Order: sequence, then C-alpha cells, then structure tokens
Amino acid sequence: MVNSDIPDNTQSDSHQVSDKDITSLKELMDEANRIVIFTGAGISAESGIATYRGHGGIWTKYDAEKYASIDYFRRDPSYYWNFFKDVRHDMMADAQPSASHIAVAELERQGRVSSIITQNIDNLHYKAGSKRVLELHGNTTRFYCCDCRAPYTMTEAKNILDERLPPLCLKCSGVLRPDVVLFGEMLPADVIDEAHREAQMCDLMIVIGSSLVVYPAANLPYQAKSSGAKLVIINIDPTPLDSVADLYIHRPAGEVFPQAAGMKDE
Ligand code: NAD
Ligand code: ZN
Repeated sequence: MVNSDIPDNTQSDSHQVSDKDITSLKELMDEANRIVIFTGAGISAESGIATYRGHGGIWTKYDAEKYASIDYFRRDPSYYWNFFKDVRHDMMADAQPSASHIAVAELERQGRVSSIITQNIDNLHYKAGSKRVLELHGNTTRFYCCDCRAPYTMTEAKNILDERLPPLCLKCSGVLRPDVVLFGEMLPADVIDEAHREAQMCDLMIVIGSSLVVYPAANLPYQAKSSGAKLVIINIDPTPLDSVADLYIHRPAGEVFPQAAGMKDE
C-alpha cells in the first residue's frame, strides 16, 4: 500500500492480489538512480530455506540457541557440526536462488542496483550472480580455523568432517567453524560501515523478506529513509517500519518483485 494514498478500506493490506502493488513498485524503481536491496530470510523462503519468524518459520530437531551460539560452540563444537552434517550441509548445497534473487542480480548487472545488504547467510545472492553483497551475518557456506583463521570451502570442511568430528584445521589442528556471526558475537565492523554508507547514498531502498526486528541490521532502512531515500518493504507479515515506508506490500516477494523488475511477464 502506498502510504501517501488515501486509505482505501476496501483493500486489505495483506494477500490482496493487486497489480497496483507491482505498478507502484515499478514506478519507484524507474525513478531511482541508485537502488540498494536489503534482504532477510523471506527472500530465501522461496528457495526452500525456512525463516525463523513469520510464515513457515523454521523447524528442526536442533536448537538454534545451541548451534548458533558462540558460547555453546566453544563448549561443544560437535553440536554445530552434527547439525551441519544432518541438516545444514544438504540444505545449503541444494538450495537454488529464487526468482527474486535472480531479479536482484540482473538489476545489479544492469547498473540499477548498487549493492545488496543481506542478513542471510545462505550464499544465494552470490549463487544468483550478484557481485556486491554485504553479508551482515556472514556466510554459512564458508569456514575458517578458530586458531590460525585459515579459510576452508564447504566441500573442504565436509571432507574433513567425514573423517573427524569436529573437523580440525589441516595446518594447526584448530577447530573449524562457520564464517557466520553467531549469537554473542559482533557484526563485522567493515561490513556494517559499508552498509551504512550504502544506506546513506541510495535514493531507493527495497527491503525484501525481513521482519525488521533484528538489530542493528534493521537500523539500515531507517537510515536510508532519514537520509532522503524512498523506502519500499516487501514482506508477507507486517513490519515495524511499514508506517515510515513509501510503499509496503504484504505478499510473497516472488509474486511482485521479479515482475516489477521487468524479469517476468505480469
Ligand atoms: P525473519 O525470519 O525474522 O523474518 C522473515 C520474514 O520474511 C517474516 O516476517 C515473513 O513474513 C517474511 N516472509 C516469509 N516468506 C516470504 C516471502 N516468500 N516473501 C516475502 N516475505 C516473506 O528473518 P530476518 O528478518 O531475516 O532475520 C532473521 C535472522 O535469522 C537473520 O539475522 C538471518 O541471519 C537469520 N536467518 C537466515 C536465513 C537464511 O540465510 N536464509 C534463514 C533463517 C534465518
Ligand atoms: Zn588453523
């Protein structure tokens, strides 16, 4: 719904299939010179990776408080590595970019999108062909040694894991860990600084599939808006920032974003 519109009580703001959403989004995109895309777990729901919150929230026999916590990882890295072996490896290896990931990459290739800021750790923006991806929470398909910080690909980590649990560094025998920001850890300062610069410089930020309740990441759309950019939010469930957005659309991203980006027939 366009916030400047006169409220139309005949239109519920969720699940209303209305081409007006696509038209309004397309207009804002056509007017923009520098678009920044901000994504959360919702964009990857259409790639079969469950979100934590909202529609289709995550289900797993593993407890995120354990596999995603630095304190727990230090105490018992095997818990994470069992979760990886059992669930995460195949989920991440098999996942394919959604139509929205592909549309974002195509807009970047055309020079219309300057960067993608993501809370996701699933590598799908890169798989779709995006180049300038600011990963606020890291990437769960990359690994490194806790001691010497030597990097490992997912295949290398998996091969070592097949021999030994938890997998150890081939150089120094330190424990391998995922290159993600675990609960209890700081966001990477260089990435967050760059994301703030991008938020300040863009003239349109499009949020796709984020509940916008996880801070400090959710500050970025606020910052874009207060620096004069237009703000669009595409998320199935309402978010706390809908009231400041120029346009919000409570529908699955794949229903609106690829079309608005000109990737699919309407
Ligand atoms: P979130 O799980 O809090 O919220 C996801 C939002 O996506 C929900 O509000 C839901 O309404 C919406 N959504 C679901 N399907 C959608 C669709 N098809 N189209 C549009 N919207 C849809 O996600 P978040 O705000 O990104 O924060 C959760 C944290 O969990 C992040 O920090 C992230 O690191 C992590 N996480 C990452 C992944 C991933 O990498 N794919 C998956 C789960 C959680
Ligand atoms: Zn090492």
